[in-house]
Amino acid sequence: MDIDLKQLTKDLAAMVGKENAFSDRPTALAYAKDTMPWDVEAHHMPYAVVRPADAQQVSAILKYATGRKIPVHTHGSGTSLVGLGRPKTNAIVLDTARMQDLAVFPDRAYFEVGPGMHIGKLRKALAPYNALLPVFPGSEPVATIGGSIAVNTSAHAVDASIGKPGDYVLGMEVVLPTGEILNTGTESTRKPAGIEATKFLVGSEGLLCVITRIRMRLVPLPHTTNIVAYYRSTEEIIDTVMAMYRDGLPTPMFFEYLDEKSSKIGFEAVGLAPPTGAVAMIRMHSATRVGCEEKARIFLEFLKKTGPIEARIITDDDEWGKIWSSRAEAGNYVYRLGSTFGSEVTVRVDKLKDAFLEAKEIILNLDSVQGNEFISFGHIGAPTIHAYAFIPSKDISNEVKKAVTLEVRDKTEALNVKYGGCGGEWGLTAQRAGFLGKKYGPAYTDFLVRLKKTFDPENILNRGNLEGWL
Ligand SMILES: Cc1cc2nc3c(=O)[nH]c(=O)nc-3n(C[C@H](O)[C@H](O)[C@H](O)COP(=O)(O)OP(=O)(O)OC[C@H]3O[C@@H](n4cnc5c(N)ncnc54)[C@H](O)[C@@H]3O)c2cc1C
Repeated sequence: MDIDLKQLTKDLAAMVGKENAFSDRPTALAYAKDTMPWDVEAHHMPYAVVRPADAQQVSAILKYATGRKIPVHTHGSGTSLVGLGRPKTNAIVLDTARMQDLAVFPDRAYFEVGPGMHIGKLRKALAPYNALLPVFPGSEPVATIGGSIAVNTSAHAVDASIGKPGDYVLGMEVVLPTGEILNTGTESTRKPAGIEATKFLVGSEGLLCVITRIRMRLVPLPHTTNIVAYYRSTEEIIDTVMAMYRDGLPTPMFFEYLDEKSSKIGFEAVGLAPPTGAVAMIRMHSATRVGCEEKARIFLEFLKKTGPIEARIITDDDEWGKIWSSRAEAGNYVYRLGSTFGSEVTVRVDKLKDAFLEAKEIILNLDSVQGNEFISFGHIGAPTIHAYAFIPSKDISNEVKKAVTLEVRDKTEALNVKYGGCGGEWGLTAQRAGFLGKKYGPAYTDFLVRLKKTFDPENILNRGNLEGWL
């Protein structure tokens, strides 16, 4: 596409002010990259980066882009892990960073926030209201609330326990690709029954609209109790998760784990003695302290029957702080000290162990690379298995990176098809395009393409994500 970049930047500057429209190469490069391990290529580079202040400015940009058929990629913080965050075509990148207004209405039992506010900052701002923000990604300090609602990911939170963030969204202000501004939902705490646009737009991954304001329920912060359990192996933790669902135990708010390798890496990094095997970290919650203590007691009794090396409630905040942050340290290790290729296997609960063992075999026997390690940690209670292929070097060619990415993706997705799952986080459409066809058949993909066309006739928003990367 022939674009007059000077004219484009001038036109965008007229809409948002020249201090908020950029077309220099260093800025473009910063927005071309995401967390995927492959190098940036020419077709990822934005034409321009623009930071609108509100829905009216977003509307002007989208109307302009649709009129000229110029792709627009919406950027929260770009932390999505499997390819959503990177523009797939040269595009205007629309950064939501300036839309950060927060208004809290305790008497109406909701708050409203702009999409660009970081989750960590929002959690702090809600603390004086004793309110729970039901979104817990490891990227909390940098990921935006808009990105999280667009992906509808709750991260550590166990879906069966507190649901998805979208369950707490009462309504939104969004801008359609044609420039129309739409207000959806309700101001009541009772969500509308039947057909209602919020439901289509939460989790739409930037394909259908740009979210410019989010109204969410103020939920009282629950009391919580933390439990740690040490097991000989990851398989024993998986047996425990399967038994938890089968036996109808109260579902924890968080149920995370570190496998035998990542537990040693994480514990050493935070100054704790390395454990013998795998570690489970569990957080129980309830509206009252007494209720929480009772729930934790019941859960601990259950854990003790599953044969751990040790299981106990942690009352010392410092000790819990170290144990909990060992998980992030394991993440830092795999992402910083080598090349890491992640997968997400989220299957039927009764097939969790089969899927884990198969995922491990897949990762250890890749055709595209040899000598890689298998590492696994994360949201096992959700129940999600992140099986990582870790190569302790960053010095690999882009071709090999892409080949490993594809092989890990295709083979682990096959487990989701085989065992009834469909992924639960990370922002998946860009990765999933082929998977959706395999799992549900061509009619499903066709339905998504037609849905997108209805909202976005010129396919300007996040072009390439529905088509799939690589
Ligand atoms: C260290 C680390 C840990 C992580 N842990 C987890 C985890 O535990 N669980 C999990 O699910 N994910 C996790 N993630 C992935 C990521 O943080 C989440 O998916 C997060 O929700 C993305 O937020 P973001 O602001 O970076 O969005 P981006 O990556 O910028 O955007 C995500 C998608 O949403 C779209 N989008 C963004 N803002 C808007 C908007 N205002 N309107 C419409 N569309 C929009 C984008 O176009 C893109 O398609 C992690 C990432 C890192 C780096």
